[in-house]
Amino acid sequence: NREVVTAAQLPALARQSFPLCMQHMFNHVREQHHMQHQGRLQLGLFLKAIGLPLEEAMRFWRTEFAPRCPGDAFEKKYAYNVRYNYGKEGRKSDYTPYSCLKIISSQPGKDQAHGCPYKVWSAAQLSAALGAMRLPASAVHEAVTKAKGGHYQLACASAFEGAHQCDCDTGINHPNQYYDESRKALT
Ligand code: SF4
Repeated sequence: NREVVTAAQLPALARQSFPLCMQHMFNHVREQHHMQHQGRLQLGLFLKAIGLPLEEAMRFWRTEFAPRCPGDAFEKKYAYNVRYNYGKEGRKSDYTPYSCLKIISSQPGKDQAHGCPYKVWSAAQLSAALGAMRLPASAVHEAVTKAKGGHYQLACASAFEGAHQCDCDTGINHPNQYYDESRKALT
């Protein structure tokens, strides 16, 4: 019985409780007004699982894509995919959100925003992004060191601990688990 999340709540929730992969994708959509197919799946299924209903998902994607793809063009090109994520088109499956392992194993191209930043990004990019999340310097250092050692999920757990000032004993194995633990820690 998850609480319903609205499109209007997403910016605040992203800042507080999205793991870095989803924060990055969320910011990418809002800045670029575009996202390629893999990214729409990775972010769209995550948003569905935090409690964003279909009509709010439609509102979010339509609004963010509007500067580059207004009105009918959005309906023709993207609305089907949004409904598909919610099992309303095609095979009508209730698609589940991607785990960390699945995200880590994807190989984003140059202009694509999906994938796990702890794997894909340079140490400098990671430090800058984690610093912008207002993590203590020690947590940034710990997360970057773990990421460079190939321990992406441990790096993510260090970022969680820095962002929430609490232990993350369970580790991070799913972006939606990160989100749920964050909501628990903050409320
Ligand atoms: Fe996202 Fe998982 Fe990577 Fe964290 S470890 S950034 S939750 S894919």
